[in-house]
Amino acid sequence: MRVYIGIDDTDSKHSMCTTYVGAVVMKRAESLGARRADYPWLVRLNPNCPFKTRGNAAVCIPLDLEPPRFEEVWDTVVETVMELADTGRGADPGVVAFDAETRSHLHEFYLKAVRELVDLEETVELCESNSLDYWAVGESRGLIGAVAAVGAIEETLTTYELLAYRSKVMWGKERLVDPESVKEMDRMFGQLTFDNYDYEKDEVRVTPHTPCPVLLGIRGLNPDVLPYALSTLKLGEPIEFYEVFRTNQATDLHYVTCDIGSIRPLTSVVIRGRVVRSPTVTQGGHVFFEVSDGSGRVVVAVYEPTGEIRRVVSKLVLSDEVVVFGSVKEKPEGLTVNLEKLKVLRLADLIVERAPRCPHCRKSMKSVGKGKGYRCRRCGFYGPDLNKVSVKVGREIVEGFYEVAVSARRHIVRPLSLHEQDAAEHL
Ligand SMILES: [Zn+2]
Repeated sequence: MRVYIGIDDTDSKHSMCTTYVGAVVMKRAESLGARRADYPWLVRLNPNCPFKTRGNAAVCIPLDLEPPRFEEVWDTVVETVMELADTGRGADPGVVAFDAETRSHLHEFYLKAVRELVDLEETVELCESNSLDYWAVGESRGLIGAVAAVGAIEETLTTYELLAYRSKVMWGKERLVDPESVKEMDRMFGQLTFDNYDYEKDEVRVTPHTPCPVLLGIRGLNPDVLPYALSTLKLGEPIEFYEVFRTNQATDLHYVTCDIGSIRPLTSVVIRGRVVRSPTVTQGGHVFFEVSDGSGRVVVAVYEPTGEIRRVVSKLVLSDEVVVFGSVKEKPEGLTVNLEKLKVLRLADLIVERAPRCPHCRKSMKSVGKGKGYRCRRCGFYGPDLNKVSVKVGREIVEGFYEVAVSARRHIVRPLSLHEQDAAEHL
């Protein structure tokens, strides 16, 4: 019998990581005779969810087991979650089990949990009517992610992450993974892994900054190379074990393409429009501009931590045609889209008016007075009928795709480096 175990919300801001709980659950289930039916799944849900601890990730463990063993495995799963979850400091863990048949009813719920917000009532209903069993503490909010993870559509789980865990004595201590070895690994496995290093900000990206059991995570497209990538790193400490997860990270699955007039808060959207208010740069380095598509207009916010992309955004002008990828936030001024990726489709002509040039010596002329023509400053030529001329000036940016710095990018957003590979595959 195929059983899918979903687990979520075992971590708090202070400790634990649901992937670790999932990995330990998997080991213990295997010791009871269950067999892994796939890699464990690391499932990212709506990154705008206001209840998330950090990256809003849940875990699903697909297992094959003999039906009489289910109860024993289930009890072990629940005991493990009770033992490891950081309850009392903010974790409200939820655990669910579904079989293959009932899981198929959860796909829609999964997509909704990635793209919108789902409510607890609907979740509990699904558990009561379909699950093999479910268990939760506190407000039971953990059930939402647990059910969504079990409902994950396999075609959307197209990337992998190897997570290496620290021994318990190291939890909360500084990570000493050698940055040079990370860059070297990135060079060696560049095409098969991603987000190892933020070259823009000169920062290691494989290590988290939280006091959780994770030493590091290596993301990639091929699960088999990840252990080799790990073996090249200078870790600075022994690892307890590692596990490779199959994930929906870097898939853009959270985006919904829509008209500006129909965007809603706490969703992630792709909107296409024209720049209708030129970018302004605040003292803190944030850039704001406005786009319209006829159905409405919206402010696009590009905050300081997004890095270099702000240089491009600040050079946009009225009528530039763009596609904006971002998350919708409700601000006192109205809805705002926080930029994650930008496609500049078509740059508008930038026309400036300036004084005419002298027909004799080509020097720029000086206005004599409104409607009174221009006089040359060098040779003195006077043209009473001369007017300002419109000149097309070169643009400082080029059409194309731009993204925020690696360190500002959300787990579920697809990096441009992978767009390039996607395009190459379709040639
Ligand atoms: Zn002249």
